[in-house]
Amino acid sequence: MTGLVIENVTKTYGAVTAVKDVNLNFNKGEMICFLGPSGCGKTTLLRMVAGLEDTTAGSITFEGKDLTHVPVHKRNIGMVFQSFALFPHLSVGENISYAMKIRGHSRSECEDRVKELLDMIHLPGIADRRITQMSGGQRQRVAIARALALNPEIFLLDEPMSALDANLRESMQIELRKLQQELGITTVVVTHDQTEAMTMADDIVVMGRAKIHQTGAPLDIYKTPANQFVAEFIGTSNLLPGKLTNPDTVTVSGSEMKFTNASAGLSAGDDVLLMTRPEDVFVHPTTDAPLENELQGTVTFIRDIGMTIEILVDCGHHEVTSIMTPKDFPEVKVGQQVYLEMPTSTCNVLAA
Ligand code: ATP
Repeated sequence: MTGLVIENVTKTYGAVTAVKDVNLNFNKGEMICFLGPSGCGKTTLLRMVAGLEDTTAGSITFEGKDLTHVPVHKRNIGMVFQSFALFPHLSVGENISYAMKIRGHSRSECEDRVKELLDMIHLPGIADRRITQMSGGQRQRVAIARALALNPEIFLLDEPMSALDANLRESMQIELRKLQQELGITTVVVTHDQTEAMTMADDIVVMGRAKIHQTGAPLDIYKTPANQFVAEFIGTSNLLPGKLTNPDTVTVSGSEMKFTNASAGLSAGDDVLLMTRPEDVFVHPTTDAPLENELQGTVTFIRDIGMTIEILVDCGHHEVTSIMTPKDFPEVKVGQQVYLEMPTSTCNVLAA
């Protein structure tokens, strides 16, 4: 069912275009992550969905209802800010029920809902505690409970993990995703952390400088990035300069390489980049027969971090990174001549 639709939305601040002609369409109940580097416009786009910023042009609808000019307090949204923005002088319960009180809910209604929400965020029985007595992770959960108190239709979170340390961040990403799936609530999260987006999203919107580079399911974006920006922003990639010679062949340093996916609009003769992920590059110490998309080179560095082994190989014009599991690692050494195999099904061609 159609949920959140953003059509031709632009936002300018004087001479600065923060968001330019953005079009997005999401189903109800989806978890969406706006992902991109600092200043690309993701917070501005989120704030327009919230009604905290006007749109300069375009429209925003939810389930067919036009929200574009609906004031923030009349949009049925719940929002968690980067800083959590909890009231330090109020108790946990008072924070969570703040908006309910303003809307005229009775004391017992507020108490019941606070209890229900505290159970939901796995912090039962702490309604009377002070915010100042809470850890960062607990504050975040309280901020989530507060945002959900009025059963919003849309749940918005702006960099919700940035105040948490790395370990806590990871567990909260999983917890937030589970909660969102349990509630089935349409949710938009702003983040600049690609792992966070990959962990939580049904759909990722990759943004850069006011515009959208790609939208799609996390693994689709990872496996077939639309362009160099996306390939470099999500995960690590080998990007080998070459020339497109046929619809399915690219020449890289004199070698003919085959690929499966190519960005739109490329034609023979174009300068391109052959892109592979390091885990799709296999190192062989010897070979009896030609390998799929073979390149030869010399091992320059090996980094063994236990779970995976990273091997850097100098192939003359470029350095290629391979990541293998200890089980598959062929025990090569720095300085050794090796053969690289890059299966066609994992190779993409992007505009240079
Ligand atoms: P970050 O991750 O650093 O928060 P972002 O991707 O969320 O960045 P925005 O905060 O949306 O980016 O900002 C996008 C652009 O719009 C930036 O160039 C920013 O300086 C500009 N901008 C945002 N808010 C305003 C404002 N109120 N007045 C003027 N310019 C603004």
